[in-house]
Amino acid sequence: MSAANTAHRFGRGAELVVASHNEGKVREIGELLAPFGLTARAASELGLDEPEETGTTFEENACLKAVAAARASGLPALADDSGLSVDALDGAPGIHSARWAGPERDFARAMRNVEEHLQQAGATAPEARRARFVAVIALARPGGDVKTFRGEVEGEMVWPPRGDRGFGYDPVFRPDGHDRTFGEMSAEEKHGWTPGKAAGLSHRARAFAKFAEACLGPPA
Ligand code: IMP
Repeated sequence: MSAANTAHRFGRGAELVVASHNEGKVREIGELLAPFGLTARAASELGLDEPEETGTTFEENACLKAVAAARASGLPALADDSGLSVDALDGAPGIHSARWAGPERDFARAMRNVEEHLQQAGATAPEARRARFVAVIALARPGGDVKTFRGEVEGEMVWPPRGDRGFGYDPVFRPDGHDRTFGEMSAEEKHGWTPGKAAGLSHRARAFAKFAEACLGPPA
């Protein structure tokens, strides 16, 4: 292992801020961090503001959220910028996935909205309904250093929504190789990741696995 990698490793008991105000994401990142014995502090618990997402890529937005939280808290911060990218919609809703749910975060409406766009585009056959979830995890140090890790999962848009687990667009996304949508899966199935054993299924778990490999010690 190089000296640079060693410098980025966290020991057990280290404190990290999860720079998100999205409860679903904070829960999932907390679940992924748990085996490593790190203490995850939510941005809302520390009273941190949510910066405006002015970037044009998942990477830019993840970095600006992580850097802002690390500066404000004086702790290393992890941020996730993620979204659903639908091929027939030229990658929309993409970095605007949260915005499609409106200020009241109404994901029933956001899912309907995506489906209406798919219908308008004539995307009814399964092969015309390809999509991927993308997650970029950024790790920022209070000193300003920042690194990113990207994970993606390919699949198909289904309609009507199926399942009430997970969050956001989970009920309308069926990952390749599975019969069920993310909305029908338990958290363990959706993550599909066991450090050192399984590679990870969800975009977030795949990005997290790369982060863990680079920055975390062995799990308990
Ligand atoms: P942001 O990264 O906070 O800008 O928001 C990402 C948005 O993408 C979320 O609010 C969800 O709508 C959607 N999203 C990201 N990851 C997932 C996931 O794992 N399941 C379902 N929806 C997701």
